[in-house]
Amino acid sequence: MKILTFDIEEWFHLLDNNLANTETSWETYEVRIHKNMERIYKILDETNTQATFFCLGWIAKKYPEIIKQIDQLGYEIGCHSDQHQLVYELSPALFKRDTEVAINRLEDILGKKIKSYRAPCFSFTSETPWAFEVLASLGITHDSSIFPSARIQGGYVNFPSKMPSILNCNGIHIKEIPITTTKFLGQNIVFSGGGYFRLFPYSFIHYWTKKQDFVMAYMHPRDLDADQPMINELSLSRKFKSYYGLNTAEAKFKKWLTDFKFTDIREFDKNFDWNNAKIINL
Ligand SMILES: [Zn+2]
Repeated sequence: MKILTFDIEEWFHLLDNNLANTETSWETYEVRIHKNMERIYKILDETNTQATFFCLGWIAKKYPEIIKQIDQLGYEIGCHSDQHQLVYELSPALFKRDTEVAINRLEDILGKKIKSYRAPCFSFTSETPWAFEVLASLGITHDSSIFPSARIQGGYVNFPSKMPSILNCNGIHIKEIPITTTKFLGQNIVFSGGGYFRLFPYSFIHYWTKKQDFVMAYMHPRDLDADQPMINELSLSRKFKSYYGLNTAEAKFKKWLTDFKFTDIREFDKNFDWNNAKIINL
């Protein structure tokens, strides 16, 4: 099965942009989220695709109409933190406070329980097993924050499963749905979302998608926004990652959703054999 997810945040929510890591700084940038959401709805409608939307609590506070619309269109909503900070830089208490605020904001709008979570920039590592206990204490049952490859922020390089697994953390269980990796030139690489999806030619993406038993895909509204402004202060490597392939991303993404059937976490959960899933003790 293949799952499609979006991390719903603004185009400037990049964690290595030091000019935009506080709520006050976010107010100085152009608002692009509404038209970027319309683009996503259109693509999903045209390709008859379901998806899970991990939304920032900040988006829920600032633009509650976006959260309402995602829900009204029948898509599943999960939590992507409130303030989009790196989890491994937070204490367990701060992480709990941030997550709780975000969940409350989303649940107040929706009137229903939030069950899924994704950390900002996949910033769970082997050093943050406590994060899963915090999530469980807030009623989260499914997590998709494990990025089993090296990255600038976070990355859980030696995560012992490519498939959805059950994490056991001091007797607390969380269903983990990790980001998909494939072997390329001897390395475990990610291809199913963000800058990686924009970087590789479609023939590679198609080949790697076809050979997987399971794919977890992740996109951001900015990954499909070819007209977004360039932030000049970013490092050269971040500029490359954030802007490469934007012009062709929308057409490529649409082709991907036409060639393969993706669904959301809710539907996946009903069909996946969790009884035989690997149990990983943290
Ligand atoms: Zn994010």
